[in-house]
Amino acid sequence: MVAETLILDGNRVASSMKEELIERIQRLSDKGIIPCLATILVGDDPASATYVKMKGNACKRLGIQSKRVVFPENTSTSELIAAIQRLNVDPSVHGILLQHPVPQHIDERAAFETISMDKDVDGVTTLGFAQNAFGFADFPSCTPAAILAIMDAYKLPIEGKHAVVIGRSPILGKPVSMMLLNRNATVTICHSKTTDLANIVRLGDIVVAAVGKPRFIQGDWIKPGAIVLDAGYNEGNIGDVDYVACREKASAITPVPAGVGPVTIATLLKHTVEAAEKMAER
Ligand code: NAP
Repeated sequence: MVAETLILDGNRVASSMKEELIERIQRLSDKGIIPCLATILVGDDPASATYVKMKGNACKRLGIQSKRVVFPENTSTSELIAAIQRLNVDPSVHGILLQHPVPQHIDERAAFETISMDKDVDGVTTLGFAQNAFGFADFPSCTPAAILAIMDAYKLPIEGKHAVVIGRSPILGKPVSMMLLNRNATVTICHSKTTDLANIVRLGDIVVAAVGKPRFIQGDWIKPGAIVLDAGYNEGNIGDVDYVACREKASAITPVPAGVGPVTIATLLKHTVEAAEKMAER
């Protein structure tokens, strides 16, 4: 490891974000409002169950209410949509998070679109995505927002840099690309059909890994001095980048765990508090 590689500490960034929320939660509580995040889990994917549990626990620690809605694997799209519609009109619920992915037979897009805009705290609706692309979303997707929050917390430069994003999912690769573009990076988006991936990644001053494949990004793909942000979270707490090898080349890198993950959760809590504040204003 080069001595000066900066390890981007997601726990530290998340703690300071959560610290800032304490007073806001207290102010809401003084008005008799407890921010509430509803999480919906469909099926028995163990990773999704763990994510939902972590989000619920993080809510509790901060005094945010968490309402867990759990459905079996054989739930239909219409049953899921009906549940979301009930949460939309429930005044005690401020944010709704449908854990991705849902079982394959469910129309996930239709379910996401059902979430009311003022409760779409993970920016999953078409309108939420579009607002993020235009640069004025109330609630951009949490993981992309977390990546930007880490860069900002460490004052890492974005403008004029070449960012290479590997992955184009609607909740991660695409929105983070839009956010980097809005901050005046030059952005290349890669995906499973990209040819010559290694040489494209080698051009990146900023590399965002959002692939879902353990240790996929190799150390010799990283331009010396690049900033590496690993959004991946695979079984066994393994990221999408080969951390040890990439750390040798990078000027700054997020570890897994304790990188993007905790900041994603802190961002979700922040959006839930903001949704409660907006509802209180209305
Ligand atoms: P996803 O929906 O499965 O998307 C994966 C993307 O990677 C797709 O765009 C796919 O391309 C691309 N890809 C797959 N194989 C590739 C290859 N060989 N070369 C280049 N690109 C390739 O996954 P996701 O939901 O975006 O999640 C990505 C990762 O982030 C996962 O590890 C997930 O667990 C993690 N994640 C972490 C957090 C967090 O809080 N840290 C939150 C959400 C997700 P195609 O579009 O061509 O198929």
